[in-house]
Amino acid sequence: MPSRRGLLAAVLGLAAATTRAGADARPEGAFRSFIDGLRPDAAARGIAAETFNAAFRGVTAPDPGILARTRRQSEFVRPVWDYLVGTVSAGRIAKGSARAAALAGPLEAIERRSGVPGPVVLAIWGIESDFGASAGGIPTIRALATLAAAGHRGSLFRDELLAALTILQRGDVTPERMSGSWAGAMGQVQFLPSTYLAHAVDFDGDGRRDIWTSATDSLASIAAYLKDRGWDPALSWGYEVLLPGDFDLARYTGDLAAFAERGVRRADGHPLPPRGRASLFLPGGRGAPSFLITDNFEVIRGYNTSDSYALAVGHLADRLGGGPALAAAWPAAAGLDGPGLRALQTGLAATGYYDGPKDGRAGPKLREAVRRYQIGAGLPADGYATAALLAHVAGRGAPGP
Ligand code: CA
Repeated sequence: MPSRRGLLAAVLGLAAATTRAGADARPEGAFRSFIDGLRPDAAARGIAAETFNAAFRGVTAPDPGILARTRRQSEFVRPVWDYLVGTVSAGRIAKGSARAAALAGPLEAIERRSGVPGPVVLAIWGIESDFGASAGGIPTIRALATLAAAGHRGSLFRDELLAALTILQRGDVTPERMSGSWAGAMGQVQFLPSTYLAHAVDFDGDGRRDIWTSATDSLASIAAYLKDRGWDPALSWGYEVLLPGDFDLARYTGDLAAFAERGVRRADGHPLPPRGRASLFLPGGRGAPSFLITDNFEVIRGYNTSDSYALAVGHLADRLGGGPALAAAWPAAAGLDGPGLRALQTGLAATGYYDGPKDGRAGPKLREAVRRYQIGAGLPADGYATAALLAHVAGRGAPGP
């Protein structure tokens, strides 16, 4: 699943839509010309001819498998709870706990340095690469060259290819060992090359930022990425909460202290922190597991824009930190799938509630539009996109319970 591959999913969200028709039919000659055309830009970035030649040794044709995969983006959206059950499994919790024990010293140092809790860093490492066991073995240079030559997403992959060459020039890794997933996300942390250049860390001090074979470099790099994106050490990612029966869903953002005053309690019985802001997130509607999420939830979404991903990271981190399973049960029926979400985006745009992309993806912007629509229509403002809500927006009837 692309959605389990960190930055990969974000990058590929629009890849299929921007593929040039027939790009895979380019002859080898055109691919070689494309690579040769990179030389001036590479030289301008200080990449030596020897580095360039070594990087592309044996890379003579695009990878047809990668081009085929860009056209296979699924419209299917797994319900949040399906993704959570698959991602935060008993096996993963056990494996993560064992890794946490083995790496306790470095994790403590990384947390001290970055302010990001060790369990959060471990959770991302676990989801991206099964704690380093499955980092993807596709050669990065050929993957990026394939996507760049096909013109995916404008110049994005060309820029990433030049960033990858910069990494090789620095000597952090050899071309043979620079590998990852099919869309260029690299190593145990699934960083694109530009992300690597901006955030990767040499924790063990051997002079190389090694996200391919070093567990501690990988963990420190994930932590640095979250810190650089603004992780607030004073707050968690969020909390599962229990809402009082008369809770007004229309007031869904505010200070944690104000939520506590309104009778919101953490499901695990611990008190909510006295400071910080949060917003209510009901990924299965009212009655299903309910969360107060902080700005740190958005920091995690920088890694992967999916709400399901950020929730899985947060919950897995809680479990690795000794926290309990979710208290509430998920609903039996799923929310809208990709085409349904796109129809809802279109409908809400037509009524003036939504001005974001019509990409068939759930996220904070659509959730906000759904809530404003619900408030306007006198419906419970849970922000949950269901078939009943879509029918209501389309004027075909009132939503069910
Ligand atoms: Ca290192």
